[in-house]
Amino acid sequence: MESFCPIDAELGNEVSALLTPPPPSQVEEYLNELIKTSSRQCHGIRVKHNGDLGKGVYADSDLKEEELLLKDQMLVGLQHSSNKIECLVCSFCFRFIGSVELQIGRRLYLQELGVSASQDCCQADYSSDDEEEDLGQCGSSSSGYQDKLPLPKGLTQSLMNGELSLPYSDKFSMPPAVPCPGGCGEAYYCSKLCAESDWNSSHSLLCTGERSESISREALVKFIQHANETNDIFLLAAKAVASTILKYRKLKVTQSEGENKLNVSGSPSLSLLLEAWKPISVGHKRRWWDCIALPVDVESSDENEFRMQIRELAFSSLQLLKEAIFDEECKPLFSLEIYGHIIGMFELNNLDLVVASPVEDYFLYIDDLPDPKKKEAEEITRPFLVALGDDYSVCCQGTAFYPLQSCMNHSCSPNAKAFKREEDRDGQATIIAVKPICKGEEVTISYVDEDLLLEERRALLVDYGFKCKCPRCVEEEP
Ligand SMILES: [Zn+2]
Ligand SMILES: [Zn+2]
Ligand SMILES: [Zn+2]
Repeated sequence: MESFCPIDAELGNEVSALLTPPPPSQVEEYLNELIKTSSRQCHGIRVKHNGDLGKGVYADSDLKEEELLLKDQMLVGLQHSSNKIECLVCSFCFRFIGSVELQIGRRLYLQELGVSASQDCCQADYSSDDEEEDLGQCGSSSSGYQDKLPLPKGLTQSLMNGELSLPYSDKFSMPPAVPCPGGCGEAYYCSKLCAESDWNSSHSLLCTGERSESISREALVKFIQHANETNDIFLLAAKAVASTILKYRKLKVTQSEGENKLNVSGSPSLSLLLEAWKPISVGHKRRWWDCIALPVDVESSDENEFRMQIRELAFSSLQLLKEAIFDEECKPLFSLEIYGHIIGMFELNNLDLVVASPVEDYFLYIDDLPDPKKKEAEEITRPFLVALGDDYSVCCQGTAFYPLQSCMNHSCSPNAKAFKREEDRDGQATIIAVKPICKGEEVTISYVDEDLLLEERRALLVDYGFKCKCPRCVEEEP
């Protein structure tokens, strides 16, 4: 398909430079450098290119069953907006923050306000009352309160502002919530370090607060609203664009301070942009509207029209993003071609981000107490448990791009899996071996539920754009 608006030749060249995959050796080098990052706790693995099969992760030593192979930090990630009502987590590392009381109180407060999962809670209320307000004092009594919940008036507030503490909650302590330094009142963090890291990597451009470094906060709000109403994959794409711009600016400063450090032919700004783009360049990509799986309710005769609509959706989103954070020096990033490929990369490679809720642990702990301690504690906790309802302990849910995990190929009988251990309480992806793996063997994970039948697995793998030919599939083939 052709582009909506004709792009000039120079921009076209820059766009194709960004879309040309780096040579396999460079990709390998970059990813194996990531493996060495100590925080990833990688153990005995390396990324290798294997001819036509593309890149994969291979065991570099013999690995035992249940051994931790990798804790992969996300390149970009987000919490689904509907999930923001249910849990308060750090916007950078996705650790639960505040306290058991705040988690429960905040959720009940939002329930009382009638904020449903389909609404964007951030825009709706929680933070909009007063942007400078501390989390602990957030919120005021709402009119719909009494008829919705059997809880005595004021109880939710006392939970949120710390007046009421629940028995044994100190055993489940969480870092206090640090509000976004930009004043948006939407992002909260587990620490100053996470707040700064997020600000420096992308949030300074995407913050809707008064210290935002975007061109237009109104446009940004519109962009976010559009994404929340259509597809939150756009928010992830915006993070990728913003982080590339910020990296480019940093590189430019370093460059002007020192001498020409980068020795790439072509325009100097393009070589800086290519360097800033590197983390995204190594991911496998296709245009979003070309690679998105056709929904089951769309007839194949309507496929072209469907793909056209997806493209138009991306185009509308990009226009809003352009108004909000356009940077002339990073112009190619704002072409539909690049935007489409970034979204396509997330569509093909994204993985669920899941962090278990300490609120669940808390209620389980109470339930496990010996009597009479249990009885005493439950007298206080039970009304809250009832008010929260069945799904009292929703985990943090979102989506993220993990650079190394995304290199792991699929198998229907994999030798590794994503598995959160008791101590894994943030948004990093944790991969452990599920059987012994010999040195040199490829490390594989299953992208879909392994217990499914061949046809069911095939149907789900369509979303990842390939037909599995692993030994198990070959064997099960009728
Ligand atoms: Zn954090
Ligand atoms: Zn902010
Ligand atoms: Zn298979």
